[in-house]
Amino acid sequence: VKTWTDESQWHGPLISRRGVLAGIGASAAAWSLGTARAGTPSTGAPAAAAAPAPARNLILFVVDGMAMGTLALADQYRRTTQGRALEWTRLAGTRGVTRAFQSTHSADGVVTDSAAASSAWSTGRKHENGALCVLPDARAVEPFFARARRAGKATAAVTTTTITHATPGGFYANVPDRDRQAQIGSQLVERPVDVALGGGAMYVDAGAASAAGIRVVTDRAGVLGEPASGRTIGLLARSHVPLVLDRDDRDASLAEMTRHALKALAPVAGSTGFVLQVEAGRVDQAAHYNDAAALLREMLEADEVLGLLAEYCAGRPDTLLIATSDHATANPGPTWYGREGTAGMKRLADAKHSFEWIEREFAARQLPRDAALRGETLAELLSKATGLTYDENDRRLLRRFFEGERVQAFTTANTPVGIMGGLAASKTGVAFLSPNHTADHTEVLALGPGSERLSGTLDNTDLHQMMVETLGLPA
Ligand SMILES: [Zn+2]
Repeated sequence: VKTWTDESQWHGPLISRRGVLAGIGASAAAWSLGTARAGTPSTGAPAAAAAPAPARNLILFVVDGMAMGTLALADQYRRTTQGRALEWTRLAGTRGVTRAFQSTHSADGVVTDSAAASSAWSTGRKHENGALCVLPDARAVEPFFARARRAGKATAAVTTTTITHATPGGFYANVPDRDRQAQIGSQLVERPVDVALGGGAMYVDAGAASAAGIRVVTDRAGVLGEPASGRTIGLLARSHVPLVLDRDDRDASLAEMTRHALKALAPVAGSTGFVLQVEAGRVDQAAHYNDAAALLREMLEADEVLGLLAEYCAGRPDTLLIATSDHATANPGPTWYGREGTAGMKRLADAKHSFEWIEREFAARQLPRDAALRGETLAELLSKATGLTYDENDRRLLRRFFEGERVQAFTTANTPVGIMGGLAASKTGVAFLSPNHTADHTEVLALGPGSERLSGTLDNTDLHQMMVETLGLPA
């Protein structure tokens, strides 16, 4: 196993005005590659694979925390409320699109987190939960973007979470602990990721980025505007980009950020190629909240993005698109039979705010430790956010919970979000297993060159191999 510690190969943007004008491939000065490692200057064009790779570009679309049931729920919801299936469903039934089940366990357990899962795709090695491209024996391994860059590819990451979160971080960072987001932010600035768009202004030093010649975008207007010719870091929120349910027209959408990234990558798309990771990162978080209404809005946004990526690839026979999830979260699903079940699910359309909004509002009130007051307040906020009616039985249960009583048989679900999700489920029929990830297999879908390598059941580390082989990346 190669130890990857030398950062010298990471310097300089790949998408540069000069590179574009010089036709990229001829402009060695636009980037420096692995040959600089021994202290000698980089010479010539990037090392090409011996055999022509079937794909020049790779787009990995990750719907974080999407259980099979989440996909089914979103499809049923879309059909019921909008009269049409998900794009995901349509693609899955399209000729030439391949699919597989993916096992996702990490090095230290059956239930993975996003750090171990992203690192497995990135490096082909199993990681312990929390680690980003640092193996259980503390060795750093080369992240996928670094390897792609050695083959002359531009790299880009887009997400609705902080740009320093586990899924994007697993493709460019080396840290033993995903919670060190400021350190991951420093690595994002230091390492030449060409385009990075998401939330996370609190973790990335915009001044240092600007000083390094990186264009920093901080608002939606910048996302909707023309891309810069050099590197871009977009910090569209202090923390995560707001959930769809809580957004206003100042907030950029995942589709808008994705379009911006594709435009920025256009100069290299037909020459040296690119690797783009797009993450619908807050599907996972809405599921952690056991918030079915917020989850469905995030899923519909994710599906819109899958549609636009598929459309992009339809005109590009040199681009492999893989759409998948890193793990399942909370395993939601409708649980009522017949008409009652359909009617319950449709009530999720009435929501005005997310459970995250409720949490913020509840905290802002700085209530005293009074169980009755807390219970009443939460019931009031729940009604306002969900558009559902909370009766005296619900209020009594909330009061008992705030008195410290265990009100759920499954202790893991005996948390504020577990209770909120359970109460909402009593009115919609859409229930969650717990607030945690699960060990379910996840869906993988692929189209374009190399997609024929996908079939049956595979492990997340196998997906790494598929991406490396399809792009013809050097060892
Ligand atoms: Zn999660």
